[in-house]
Amino acid sequence: MDILTLTIVNLFIAGGAGALFWLLYLADKSQQHLLYWAIAASCMLVSSTLSTLFHFGLSLPYWLTPALGNTLIVSLHLTLLAGLYQYFRLSVKLRWFVSVIIIVFAMHFSDFAQQATANRLFLNFPLIIIINFFGLHLLFRQRHTALNGIYLVLKLAFVLNITQMSLRFLLLLSDKWQLGLFSNPDFIHNIGFFGLTSFALLIFGSSILLVYRQQQLTLQQYSERDALTGLLNRRVMEQKISAELDRCHRQARPCSLVIFDLDHFKQVNDAHGHLAGDAALCHVAAITSAQLRSYDLFFRYGGEEFVVCLPDTDATAAKHVANRIRRAIESSVPVHYPELKLTISAGLASTRHNTNLQELLLQADQALYQAKNTGRNQICSFATLATPGH
Ligand code: GH3
Ligand code: MG
Ligand code: MG
Repeated sequence: MDILTLTIVNLFIAGGAGALFWLLYLADKSQQHLLYWAIAASCMLVSSTLSTLFHFGLSLPYWLTPALGNTLIVSLHLTLLAGLYQYFRLSVKLRWFVSVIIIVFAMHFSDFAQQATANRLFLNFPLIIIINFFGLHLLFRQRHTALNGIYLVLKLAFVLNITQMSLRFLLLLSDKWQLGLFSNPDFIHNIGFFGLTSFALLIFGSSILLVYRQQQLTLQQYSERDALTGLLNRRVMEQKISAELDRCHRQARPCSLVIFDLDHFKQVNDAHGHLAGDAALCHVAAITSAQLRSYDLFFRYGGEEFVVCLPDTDATAAKHVANRIRRAIESSVPVHYPELKLTISAGLASTRHNTNLQELLLQADQALYQAKNTGRNQICSFATLATPGH
């Protein structure tokens, strides 16, 4: 592909990505990273427009091309990085970013920079490589199962960019010191345009994908999670527990279900107010979560009722877990409401043969009813309904 085609391709990539980021940012201005990415794409758009005009023979003053052109490319990388920092909720030192941009622009008016294109590249390349390393370092610190694939593409974009820039830097050095490695400044220049195209495609493409996936995850979070406690809600309970029951049945493993309910919770609300009641529910959710294994499932079933699904756990082990939860709740208080004394009653049922979810829920509920009726603050198993105890 010739340079003009690549420049026009870059212009379209930047224009499309820029328009999208601006629109997304205008739709939700709390998403600051979108603003940075919109600016990044705009920098590339202006730079590509200048390059196109340059190709059509338009003679522009030095401060416009290449001083501005190169500064725009550095700004593109800087604002991309700033967007990533913002996306990962890290503070962005705007003063530093602006200072670097001003210094880069001013640098172009030194005698060294004005002498030759290669000299200007000598000044800009190391800076861009360093910025890319910062991006790479930031991405290597992130872990998110649902987003790791996109992080990988972003890392790839930075690695490719660092590689092509380092290579061009070395070729330029070899040319300058006449080492005879390779001597074709035009070719080196052309790789730059292609490098920018592939970098922009990968980086803008994956950033757009990141925004889309993040929105999907947020929606999923809203639909699957309870707004107060952050626990899984009743809507997804059936599907998730049924899947676990199926798995346990296939592997001939036991599975237990615990339903628990806060004792006299109405009194908490009546005596201390609804805010205290809400804090108590969050406290119970946090204390219980801390007692569970990563693959146990924990749901807010209704108002002050919770369901715990314990895969690979028989009735005896489940009773231990339920009692551990009961004791942990009894012996702790919500941070801002130390006057609240909370206890729970729980009903427990375990699978036998191929018990389905409805049967298990019914059995656990009957056991809970028994726990409530025979004194509260205790666990009852469906299997031993006649002999409740701690
Ligand atoms: P028991 O020991 O028999 O379970 O008595 P209880 O008072 O806990 O049971 P009851 O069902 O009479 O009361 C449940 C209370 O839980 C009533 C309701 O106001 C409260 N509640 C349900 N959801 C929420 C919530 O999200 N926040 C707050 N603060 N209270 C809630
Ligand atoms: Mg209750
Ligand atoms: Mg209740």
